[in-house]
Amino acid sequence: MSNLRVAVVGAGPSGLYACEELLKSTDFEVHIDLFDALPTPYGLVRYGVAPDHQKIKNVTAVFEKIMRDPRLHFHGNVTVGQKELEWMRQAYHAVLFTVGAQTDRRLGIPGEELRGSDSATDFVAWYNGHPDYRERKFLLDQPRVAVVGVGNVAIDVARILLSGHDRLSKTDIADHALEELKNCAVKEVHILARRGPLQAAFTNPELRELVEMEDVSFEIRSDELKLDAYSQAAHEAENDKAVVKRLELLSQATIRPGAEKRLVLRFLVSPLEIHGTDRVESLTLGRNQLTEKLSAKDTGERETLAIGSIFRSIGYKGQPLADLPFDDGKGVISNEGGRVVGQPGLYVAGWIKRGPSGVIGTNKPCAKESVQALLSDALAGKLKAPTREPQEHLPAGRVDFAGWKRLDDHEVNLGKESGRPRVKVVERTAMLKHSSEEVAAR
Ligand code: NAP
Repeated sequence: MSNLRVAVVGAGPSGLYACEELLKSTDFEVHIDLFDALPTPYGLVRYGVAPDHQKIKNVTAVFEKIMRDPRLHFHGNVTVGQKELEWMRQAYHAVLFTVGAQTDRRLGIPGEELRGSDSATDFVAWYNGHPDYRERKFLLDQPRVAVVGVGNVAIDVARILLSGHDRLSKTDIADHALEELKNCAVKEVHILARRGPLQAAFTNPELRELVEMEDVSFEIRSDELKLDAYSQAAHEAENDKAVVKRLELLSQATIRPGAEKRLVLRFLVSPLEIHGTDRVESLTLGRNQLTEKLSAKDTGERETLAIGSIFRSIGYKGQPLADLPFDDGKGVISNEGGRVVGQPGLYVAGWIKRGPSGVIGTNKPCAKESVQALLSDALAGKLKAPTREPQEHLPAGRVDFAGWKRLDDHEVNLGKESGRPRVKVVERTAMLKHSSEEVAAR
């Protein structure tokens, strides 16, 4: 069996599912170098999945098994840009990018730059202890906030804002966030959907959690819950069981008169302008109606919502990488079924291939498609044999799998002392310190 040397860039779910698929090859003895810019693997499982969703994080057991394969070598704390891509092209048969979507979409409305107007994805990275977001500040000093968008990220952010210290203190939320949220003045979260209940992007388990928050009054206006004629027709035609369940759950939203906190889910409203002098103070909302194509159209009706901060939660967005062809509209590296357009030997999988959609498991078939393209190109003799050894180029300061496990064990041990799943080490220098052999041996 001939050797196939592959670099996988990005150790999140799509990167690890790709590694799993590569290692299954019966045609090649595959050797993988798996890179990540962070000292830690697992991408959004560590830095995106909500801290109160520990069960979802159990997927790391599957990922760890993949990482323990002796044919795979993890190199954390390595950022791959143009310079690295140059040597990688010569040191591997193929390079597969699984770098995800690093930034977010913007609303493009006046006032978006005001203090207190932030990206939900930044807030998520901050409360999950991403080292690059440790110093971010969010305005949580006013009772009412708005979250724009109705995907699962919006739901996570609303739930975390309304959770309360006791509940969060049992999770692996970053310590700095736990401390800040202890003093959080937020009592009312308004989630704003530009379309109707039928078009919401959240999934039922996440919605159910909101319905079941006992100390929160969950309010939806009956006129906004009612399907318009186009949605009703679409609903009847599709008869989707998940949507039936969603509508049932939405109808269970309960006003709890004595509750200290409120969650208000609005449909058919769009933020048009954020107002304030040196920070967010209020928001102009435009009322929408749906068109025949089920897109939102402004009716001209306006209302004002007094708020202290606003989180836009309207989707992640991929960023260009090195000189690879990029589709800016979709935020993906231009590709055909995972093959980077015009770049033999380069592949993509996950969000940087298809855009930021789906749950963790969605990345498995996506990675499989890309790996099958890679392996069939290798079988067809389309990949150039490496002319250099990776060892000539691998940078110093890398964290290997053993190093990650030292940091992992340290965090889990810290968690045991306080009854939490782990206490995350957040600063990069401290992460590197705890992954080093010398510190672990002490
Ligand atoms: P998403 O699911 O794509 O939702 C984006 C939301 O933003 C949609 O409601 C969209 O409405 C709205 N939107 C887009 N542009 C807008 C605009 N200009 N004005 C107002 N609203 C706008 O994105 P996400 O919440 O970031 O989640 C990303 C992916 O991660 C999803 O696949 C999600 O399911 C997944 N995820 C899963 C979990 C979980 O399983 N627990 C947790 C977090 C994230 P339209 O439909 O009208 O465009």
